[in-house]
Amino acid sequence: MAKERIGILFKMAEKTFDESPNMSNHYIGIARKISMRYNVRFDKEQRRRICHRCYSFLVPGANCRVRIGGKHVTVSCLNCGGYMRYQYNTRRI
Ligand SMILES: [Zn+2]
Repeated sequence: MAKERIGILFKMAEKTFDESPNMSNHYIGIARKISMRYNVRFDKEQRRRICHRCYSFLVPGANCRVRIGGKHVTVSCLNCGGYMRYQYNTRRI
């Protein structure tokens, strides 16, 4: 159930981002609290949508830059300047 609520909050964050990125971050903040309280982890997709440094909701082309190089995907957050690196999921291609 906690997982479902987190999923809903992510969807809401995505929906409101165009109008109000602050509202998106607010939803992500709630999702993080739920995940901590119920010890539920964000799934892979969800983790990639949040900056690990400033915890903003990231939208490619809006507040983050995604670069693909070699076997890694680098996501730079334009809010705090931090960047995260992920292994490319080759099974998806
Ligand atoms: Zn950031």
